[in-house]
Amino acid sequence: MTVALACREFEPSTGLAVRHLLEQSTDQFQAWFAEAGGPLYRAAQVRRWLFQRGASGFDEMTDLPKALRSRLADEFHIWTSRVVECRRSDDQTQKLLLELADGQRIECVLLRDDRRHCTVCISTQVGCAMGCVFCASGLEGVVRNLTTGEILEEILQLRRLLAESERLSHVVVMGMGEPLANLDRLLPALDLASSPAGLGISARRITISTVGLPAAIRRLAAQDCQYHLAVSLHAPDDELRNRLVPTNRKIGIEAILAAADDYFTATGRRVTYEYVLLDALNDHAEHARRLAAILKGRPALVNLIPYNPVAGLPYGTPTPEATARFVAILRQTGLTVQVRYRKGDRIEAACGQLRRSLAGC
Ligand code: SAH
Repeated sequence: MTVALACREFEPSTGLAVRHLLEQSTDQFQAWFAEAGGPLYRAAQVRRWLFQRGASGFDEMTDLPKALRSRLADEFHIWTSRVVECRRSDDQTQKLLLELADGQRIECVLLRDDRRHCTVCISTQVGCAMGCVFCASGLEGVVRNLTTGEILEEILQLRRLLAESERLSHVVVMGMGEPLANLDRLLPALDLASSPAGLGISARRITISTVGLPAAIRRLAAQDCQYHLAVSLHAPDDELRNRLVPTNRKIGIEAILAAADDYFTATGRRVTYEYVLLDALNDHAEHARRLAAILKGRPALVNLIPYNPVAGLPYGTPTPEATARFVAILRQTGLTVQVRYRKGDRIEAACGQLRRSLAGC
């Protein structure tokens, strides 16, 4: 709760004079058309061009009158970010470093599977206030929340990288920042991502990963949406979690699990618990046993993530034996467990790493 309130200081101020088209709600955009004297269906036409037909400029919207196109171009930006860096790894993962209108930089990633389905991983804040000790995103704290338009723009920038034969099928909100500390901007963006008039990605294929903010989890549950919730647990008890995820001191695991249970009750969607395995810190057999004990009886999925080392931080990847032992103990208790080997390690695709490695470029 304290965390969510603290983020009010980080209201976006993007320094844009011309309006950002992706920032306009349907009502606002229609009001602009009403004022401009155009028929209202034009608003939906522009949206279709942007979200479904992949237009990257008003001049491509050829069934709009020329005068309207030029007025739109005078009054709205479609793109407010600039691609500073685009990296591609051997597994075809691509990572973009985007510079926003106010000079701030964020990262977002495109992941590919072998069925030509693509997942975009997006950020919700510049930096992060949660302070997880092993994560690169929060090393310099949080600068500001992203706006709804900036969040949507990440998805559209990544979609431009797709080949004709590829399809954008999933969104994971697992980039920089704490999504539930910026819910007011994230929800309208995901609404558009999931609506048939927008990107048409099924809400069930959209995952929101959170450090675990109970009030915000309940707010999300009350939205009557089908987003998949992933909670970053990383430890089976408060003593260890307080050390790894300092924001836990104000919250506690029990309150998080209770909120996640409520999310399942409200949505019927099984919650995923993410657990970053850190060498010799939280990867012992005893940790696995205690994790199994606290998740017992819960309809949970466990996602184990072997740590992806961050330059300058004293944490290591667990040994394959430790990982295998951890998995086996959890599975013995009947839990569904996945090991997520991070894609794109060599392009510094883990949260916040590229931004740091290119700071000042
Ligand atoms: N604030 C959200 C999103 C963070 S990024 C959250 O806490 O869930 C998504 C996941 O990647 C989180 O579980 C985060 O703890 C984890 N993560 C961060 N840095 C990592 C690293 N270097 N290696 C492996 N996982 C990492």
